[in-house]
Order: sequence, then structure tokens, then C-alpha cells
Amino acid sequence: MPVALQTALSFDGVHKQFPNGTTALADVSLSVAPGEFVAVVGPSGCGKSTLLRLASGLDTATAGTVRTADDSVGYVFQDATLLPWRSVLANVELPAELGKAARGERRAAALDALRLVGLEGFEKQLPRRLSGGMRMRVSLARALMTHPSLFLFDEPFGALDEMTRLRMQEELQRIFAAQGFAGLFITHSVSEAVFLATRVIVMSARPGRITAAFEVPFPHPRPAELRYEPEFARIAGEVSAALRGDAP
Ligand code: ADP
Repeated sequence: MPVALQTALSFDGVHKQFPNGTTALADVSLSVAPGEFVAVVGPSGCGKSTLLRLASGLDTATAGTVRTADDSVGYVFQDATLLPWRSVLANVELPAELGKAARGERRAAALDALRLVGLEGFEKQLPRRLSGGMRMRVSLARALMTHPSLFLFDEPFGALDEMTRLRMQEELQRIFAAQGFAGLFITHSVSEAVFLATRVIVMSARPGRITAAFEVPFPHPRPAELRYEPEFARIAGEVSAALRGDAP
């Protein structure tokens, strides 16, 4: 339900029970301010994807409220979901095409988005000619076309090899620093969460509840070497301990 409010996204006392009786989320309250990047970590099945589906409006809460500041929401999933018969440029242009933007305008916007994700020169390629990391960049460029004020990420780098994954994290937080959108980012990786986010939320096993939250104070853009700083390791260690359920 879009409303005018100070937060880009808010969950207030949200419960989600499926028709088969499974309770996926219990009393989840969370707000994401404009320009804040919140990462969510938790064991498999704790309700992370459910949280994202509720945020996107694809599903509704059983109790409580979910609000977004406006309708401009971008999505990036693990599967890049590109149309195989369309070139990189034509894939990125798609949202503007559906939005009936003028041809010249949408082409210029798509070229800008491709430049932003580092894919200049690949406009005419078909998706099958690209690596997994490049396909993910195309997916990101396509999502950037509508200038969303809120981005929802469902483990977008989960299927990438380690080196590509680190590189994509660096690219994403550079884009985040430049564009200043709000983000909700689901991941299994503690170091990915700490590297990207301004705040990391830890969820418990089902029914998913928020059990801990950690501010990550490093300014964006963040250098790759941040991952080797003692303060980074300290925060990652605290998040890992919370995930294991160790007392703070
Ligand atoms: P995660 O993304 O953290 O792995 P999910 O949000 O996908 O977890 O799922 C949370 C829990 O809800 C899981 O136990 C899953 O089996 C269950 N679940 C998800 N979707 C449905 C559904 N449509 N009907 C019944 N149970 C579901």
C-alpha cells in the first residue's frame, strides 16, 4: 500500500501464515529509511523471501501492515531473467518500452544504465554470450531504468563464483553510493551483508523473527580492502554469533 511517509519501506507487526498452517513470519517490525541499505541474513526457510514478497506487494500479510513510500520499486533476483532473443540493449530498454517512453529517450536512458553497470560496448550482444556476472549487470541496469526509490534484492549474487561475487558487491555499493536508493538485500553471506549494508538484520529460524540488528558505520563507496579491516571482521563476527543464536 503506497503512502506518503518518512520511510522507504516499513513493516509493522507483520505476521505471515500460509493456508497450510505454516507460519513464515512472526511479529516483524522493520523500517528502511530513504537512502538506507538494509541486508537481511538468516537460516534457510526463515522467511527472507516471504519478507521480500510482502515488500513487493506480490503477497499480503496475515496481520500487521507493510508500506512502501511510493510505487517505484526495483527488483533484482538470483536469476537475471533476461529475454534470450533480445540484445543487451533491448533487454535494458524493456521497462521503458512498456512504460511507453519515446524511442530516443529510452535508448539514451538504457545506454546510461549500461554505462553505470560497466557494460559499455556490450549493447548488441545476446544474453547467452555473456558470463553470469555480466547477465546480472544487465538485470541491474534494467532495474535502474525506472529510477526506483527502493530496490529489493533476493540473493542476486548467490549463483555467481566467488571472484565475480566480490566484484559485483563492489559494483553494487558504488552504484548505491551514486544513486542513493533505499535497499532491502537478502543474502546467506555475512560478509556480503556487512560489506554492502548500512544495517544488517538477523532473522531466526521459522517462524522468522528479527533477533538482532547491527549498524555498519563505514561510509559508501567502500573500498574492496575494507573486508580485511579489523572493524569489519569485528562486525561480521557479531553478526555470525547472532546467527548462531549466541547470547550477545
Ligand atoms: P527463506 O527465503 O528464508 O529460505 P521462505 O520465505 O522462502 O524462506 O519460506 C519461509 C517458510 O515458509 C519456509 O518454511 C517455507 O517452506 C514456507 N513457505 C514459503 N512459501 C510457502 C507457501 N506458499 N505455502 C506454504 N509454506 C510456504
